[in-house]
Amino acid sequence: MQVIRASAMGMCFGVRDALAAARAVDAPTDTTIWGELVHNDGVRAELAARGFEQRAESDRGSLPATTQVLITAHGIAERERERLRGAGHRLVDTTCPLVARAHAAALQLAAEGRHVVVLGKRDHVEVAGLTGDLASWSVVGHLSEVERWPHSRLGVLCQTTFQEIEARRLLDAIVAANPHADVVFRDTICEPTRQRVRALRELIDAVDLVVVVGGRHSNNTRQLVASVVKGGRRAIHVERAEQLDPRDFAACATVGLTAGTSTQDEVIDAVEAALRAMPATARPRPDADAVSRAPGAEDTARSAASRT
Ligand code: SF4
Repeated sequence: MQVIRASAMGMCFGVRDALAAARAVDAPTDTTIWGELVHNDGVRAELAARGFEQRAESDRGSLPATTQVLITAHGIAERERERLRGAGHRLVDTTCPLVARAHAAALQLAAEGRHVVVLGKRDHVEVAGLTGDLASWSVVGHLSEVERWPHSRLGVLCQTTFQEIEARRLLDAIVAANPHADVVFRDTICEPTRQRVRALRELIDAVDLVVVVGGRHSNNTRQLVASVVKGGRRAIHVERAEQLDPRDFAACATVGLTAGTSTQDEVIDAVEAALRAMPATARPRPDADAVSRAPGAEDTARSAASRT
């Protein structure tokens, strides 16, 4: 069976760097990871085996017992950073630079006297960090959450992994619902997210179905699955190669492969190998070759990030 990999997929540089920083910690038994470093059971087990304490995002009210605290790529509010430092904890901060850029944008909008509106998922850990230092803010994830706010100045920005099309739709709705307000928009969607969306769009047109590899609890993996379905193709979501069922690929010649940002390379490679080992039962789509030759995009993402 022909398998086409999305030209951008899997772990972004922000998650890779955070994981590398965690692996480099030399006192794991005296370190608490402040939230989920990666939504990936294999990585969580590896970190647990080294002795890290891993604090659930929903359980960060009380202070950790360890001396050291590792902040994940999702970032936290400055107020929370100060609380941890004030209690004597040493911080290993792996906040992604593109999340830090979104924090700076939120603070700048607030400094301009604007009510800050974050386009994102209300209960997402990154959004909690983005809003944690603000006095006046709202979170909008759906059209139903758009309001007519009483403020005369609004500042809109995005969770870094928000979908661009959805952001534009919500921004238009906010402007329409607040004709009295001066609305400023800061597009803080990160480049790796844009590249993954673009790559998936190209892939969908060239394949019979798309296999999405990633954790069941990974928000961006679930978004990929939804995008495939929205694009008119069947999506098969697996966490590892053993979950593939050959019956799903009957009458299928060309399969697309993509993965969430918490998926390790070796897991993606194993899924690809298992797919290639399945016999083809139909002819490949005529447009498959063009996409399979498309260049990778992660290097572009890295250089864009390093400019921030
Ligand atoms: S902001 Fe983008 S690059 Fe950074 S960790 Fe999040 S998804 Fe990855």
